[in-house]
Amino acid sequence: MAFRTPEQALESMRDGRQVYSGGELIEDVTTHPRTRARAAGSAQAFEAFHDDRREIFVAEDPETGEEVDRFMVPPANAEDLLARARAIDFGMRYGGPSFGSDAILSLRWVAPELAEHNPMYRENIETAFRQAREQNLTMSIVMSDTKGDRSKHPSQLGDPDLYVRKVDENADGIVIRGMKAHISGAAFVDELIVLPTKRMRDDEPEYSVACMVQPNTPGIRIIERIDYMGESQFDHPLAYGGVGGECFVWFDDVLVPWDRVFQNGENELAGPIAYALGLWQRYSAMCYKKPTLEMLAGAAALSAEYLGIEKAGHIQDKLFEFAMTASAIDAFIQAAAVACETRDGVAIPNETITNVGKYTFASKYHELVKNLIDISGAIVATAPTEADYRHEDLHAAFKKYLGSGNADDGEDRLRLWNLIRDLSADAKAGHKAVLALHAEGSLAAQKMMTMRNYDFEAAKQYVKELSGISPPAGRYTPVPPSL
Ligand SMILES: Cc1cc2nc3c(=O)[nH]c(=O)nc-3n(C[C@H](O)[C@H](O)[C@H](O)COP(=O)(O)OP(=O)(O)OC[C@H]3O[C@@H](n4cnc5c(N)ncnc54)[C@H](O)[C@@H]3O)c2cc1C
Repeated sequence: MAFRTPEQALESMRDGRQVYSGGELIEDVTTHPRTRARAAGSAQAFEAFHDDRREIFVAEDPETGEEVDRFMVPPANAEDLLARARAIDFGMRYGGPSFGSDAILSLRWVAPELAEHNPMYRENIETAFRQAREQNLTMSIVMSDTKGDRSKHPSQLGDPDLYVRKVDENADGIVIRGMKAHISGAAFVDELIVLPTKRMRDDEPEYSVACMVQPNTPGIRIIERIDYMGESQFDHPLAYGGVGGECFVWFDDVLVPWDRVFQNGENELAGPIAYALGLWQRYSAMCYKKPTLEMLAGAAALSAEYLGIEKAGHIQDKLFEFAMTASAIDAFIQAAAVACETRDGVAIPNETITNVGKYTFASKYHELVKNLIDISGAIVATAPTEADYRHEDLHAAFKKYLGSGNADDGEDRLRLWNLIRDLSADAKAGHKAVLALHAEGSLAAQKMMTMRNYDFEAAKQYVKELSGISPPAGRYTPVPPSL
């Protein structure tokens, strides 16, 4: 299989897609100043198939023996899952593809159930999967609806369009209407994989739709949100190039041909699709969040060192929190792979471990950011800009006064504080704080999955036996564990 080049990827974005950004309809996302950096970034990821990163991102297709994108080879065992985990981690650090394969793998996982309703769904999913793999396509996961009043189901809302729904069907396909929100990368991909957000009620089948559409399909408008933090990479080492990039995707009566429809009104399948995606995405999330934890830990430790406070008891306590959380996430990634379940030859990460791991990250993240700010001091918010730092009247003074008083250079310290500002105190930090909590599902979703799987009945039975409320259910009489 021929992997695409960055140039070919850029060319494919010039297809008449309707992308809005900063109040403008963008004619060509690859050249417009608001979108060209993101377009180039997405395209550049293809370079990883051609340079020495290919050993990370290329794998052998077990069916054909051909070299394909590793993310498009369904993992067969724990080792494959861990190779996938390493590739996600590596891509976050050094750039590389991450093309929405979670969505297509999830659909393949539930394809047998979908086929029971209509064999066409499974065929369509299989064709989509093979096309995406053979043609090296990029995909966005288009799942989150705008939802309105969360206490109501879609059909109870005063406006029926607040969840994407089917409004018509004819000999050519189905017609969908609505707006999906927060979609990563939608302005720059080849395919949009549209999925239902959650299990729908039986009296609202029109909301249970899954399909695949190209971004330039008539009736689709994509609205990209990106914030710029100025020109200086020195001032914003992480935010340089823009913060955000998620999109609203508006389906204004879009015709989806039958051969691209994966679900059409089967309510009972919306839950399994959402659960499957949640699981794959949360496993990927743990992997891509590991480098973030390392950034936080490294920044905290370096900051403590630069301030000469690393041995203080309260700082050691805080550094422990970074080490503990980073180690825990690493353990969850390994354990979820080792305890995988294999279904139809595909290894699925362990559901409970994955959800507990993602919850651990999301619930600890903001405390770690607070610790980082505490360790680093006010200067992470107030440090001089590069323009002032380099001003000829001020440069020598800043080099002196930003130093530690030991034989070091104030510039290294300023560079670290700038990175910490991006991590903890500026627009990038705000975006990461929201991402930590909500991306791949808010905390309640992980709680729900964990509660669903934990065996409280067994735990209650154990206590009943220990306290003499019930006789032992098995051969042995339980004794309290000695401590
Ligand atoms: C940076 C970023 C990138 C993202 N990328 C994508 C993407 O590529 N594709 C995609 O599809 N989505 C994406 N998302 C969206 C993400 O999956 C959602 O944000 C997430 O599922 C939470 O949904 P929500 O934002 O609507 O909040 P909600 O889930 O509505 O949560 C808001 C609050 O309401 C509570 N709540 C919700 N419903 C109820 C209820 N019925 N009863 C009681 N409480 C309730 C929640 O617990 C929470 O406290 C992204 C999000 C971010 C931040």
